Amino acid sequence: MAAAKLSGSIVLKSTFCLAALLCLTAPAQAEWVRRVTDGIMGTRIIVELWSDDEAKANRAIDALLDEMRHIDESMSTFKPTSEVSQVNAKAADGPMKISKELFDLLVTAKQYSVITDGAFDITYASVGYMYDFRKHVHPDEAHIDKALPAVDYRHVLLDPKNQTVQFSQKGVRIDLGGIAKGYSVDRGIDVLKSFGITKAYVSAGGDSRIIGDRFGKPWVVGIRDPRKGEGEVIARIPLVDAAISTSGDYERFFEENGVRYHHIIDPHTGHSASKVRSATVIGPYATRTDGLSKTAFVLGPEKAMEIYNRLDDIDAIIVKLDGTVVYSKGMQRAPGHAPAKPDR
Ligand code: ADP
Ligand code: MG
Repeated sequence: MAAAKLSGSIVLKSTFCLAALLCLTAPAQAEWVRRVTDGIMGTRIIVELWSDDEAKANRAIDALLDEMRHIDESMSTFKPTSEVSQVNAKAADGPMKISKELFDLLVTAKQYSVITDGAFDITYASVGYMYDFRKHVHPDEAHIDKALPAVDYRHVLLDPKNQTVQFSQKGVRIDLGGIAKGYSVDRGIDVLKSFGITKAYVSAGGDSRIIGDRFGKPWVVGIRDPRKGEGEVIARIPLVDAAISTSGDYERFFEENGVRYHHIIDPHTGHSASKVRSATVIGPYATRTDGLSKTAFVLGPEKAMEIYNRLDDIDAIIVKLDGTVVYSKGMQRAPGHAPAKPDR
């Protein structure tokens, strides 16, 4: 630089200018950036990430939220214009060409139906659409009986060559509410990675995923006590590079004549699936943990634990109806540790 060859005073001045310039253009100090956004997919999105550039961090979060809004627009059954609503309106009439993204997720959803012995089934919606948990509405037996034959994931015919979906009979409806949040968390993590982010926590309602650690420490995710307030936890799970999904009978429910109606439906009966209070599944990505977290409600703790224990990349924590807590093989406490505390 020319100034360096000049007199000491000028060099000093120029050094000062350089320092001032550096201050102006240098990235903001590295820090954790956190943003909470309500209203996408009817839930709360939390993003927390580490970045040495706050502006870039905010751009990454904006892009993540755009991606989640896109998924909501395309997959929500609450939006009549969504691709899934179009499928529900037309797929019983014949093969219908759909986007690759939706096609792939339908393939994935069917795989979870097979893995969970039919407990996870997006055609639950053939009956499920008659429930409105916010308005305390549920179908009567006659309506359930009439709609139930349409509940079976095998009614969803997928043709990979032509990328089409068809329903094998009238009355079939699908709803991706049991997998779309986990999927959106995974897509959100992909977006963050594309911005070079390597340490982050993303959650959409009960589905979360973590990449990286907190500088040598794990992230700690609390599992809520199903019968207590949000702050009360039954366990704190340290996690690095993992996803965690919790399904609970306390999320969306109402009670009528002593019956608890809540938002997980048993595909075999069309009624709320009430065999546990909550189930938490830990695994490598959130589409997977979301697809598996409803199983215990439908199949019960023993059968569900058998399935979870068979899957090498999955761990699980189930709160049974009597309030006792059971852990999958990989999480069982070492001898000498206090057993999980039964509650009420
Ligand atoms: P969240 O929506 O908070 O992530 P869950 O992961 O427990 O909660 O998913 C519950 C949602 O799954 C319900 O609101 C409904 O959309 C959908 N669902 C209900 N029963 C089934 C089922 N048997 N199989 C697949 N999805 C289901
Ligand atoms: Mg979920």
